[in-house]
Amino acid sequence: MGGWAIAVHGGAGVDPNLPAERQKQAKELLTRCLNIGISALRSSLPAIDVVELVVRELESDPLFNSGRGSALTANGTVEMEASIMDGDGRRCGAVSGISTVKNPISLARLIMDKSPHSYLGFSGAEEFAKQQGVEMVDNEYFITEDNVGMLKLAKEANTILFDYRIPLTGLDSCASSVESPIRMNGLPISVYAPETVGCVVVDGQGRCAAATSTGGLMNKMTGRIGDSPLIGAGTYAGELCGVSCTGEGEAIIRGTLARDVAAVMEYKELGLQEAVDFVIKKRLDKGFAGLIAVSNKGEVAYGFNCNGMFRGCATEDGFMDVGIW
Ligand code: ASP
Repeated sequence: MGGWAIAVHGGAGVDPNLPAERQKQAKELLTRCLNIGISALRSSLPAIDVVELVVRELESDPLFNSGRGSALTANGTVEMEASIMDGDGRRCGAVSGISTVKNPISLARLIMDKSPHSYLGFSGAEEFAKQQGVEMVDNEYFITEDNVGMLKLAKEANTILFDYRIPLTGLDSCASSVESPIRMNGLPISVYAPETVGCVVVDGQGRCAAATSTGGLMNKMTGRIGDSPLIGAGTYAGELCGVSCTGEGEAIIRGTLARDVAAVMEYKELGLQEAVDFVIKKRLDKGFAGLIAVSNKGEVAYGFNCNGMFRGCATEDGFMDVGIW
């Protein structure tokens, strides 16, 4: 075994004009989360506890699209989704349609640990959360001013937005003041892109785990379920690796991206980075996405087929990297 390793992401698909200040904020948050994970790993916390801890931190910060700051449904509400998987024993838990649980990732963990099931959604999941005594808040807690502005824009453009986040300030002028190559229904889009979050970890004992959490897509239909809560699509961890995906959920589901990384390692005996490159190239038809992965040998890898992905990683031998493009 090659020691512990950790990777985090804050979403794939980035505005080429992303302002320096926003890039700085994203990098700071990713670095903070990596450091939380690193100290937990140094204190010998198991991989499954580390991914939960790190994703909780990401959910609590409004910068990315998970927990507070989640993307809004067409009705202006928040319906969050999350999943977690422990490669040690291949146990998993997932939630969808969460509107009042402060940290959906911890509810997914409780479903894994304390329920007879793997996946609960909507009122049943909220009911289970109450029984378990997890921290609950009003739906308004998750709704930020930026996202209200984004939803307005998405509605005006009559579109569902993937990874595009426009700040409320300057919204009216952004069409003329920001030069963006991306257009939706003729509307220039300024992409302030932090999106879905995820964390993958291999601990010092070679146990892999993965966790993913999201608000989904801006202006999504209520009831829409993406890849993030789906084990095998957005999240997977087994004996060999842990994987968390981000990007266009419908394309990730069709490509079963997370499980396929593990499958080509198992059945084609590819190395971690080779497996990631293979899956991004072969399994992503007509869609964009990215993913982060760790192997039980202490390696980290990532890949994406769009212009960028907010990400960071660190390994036990002292390597640390945070990047966007
Ligand atoms: N994959 C997420 C979804 O489709 C969105 C994202 O990763 O940004 O819900």
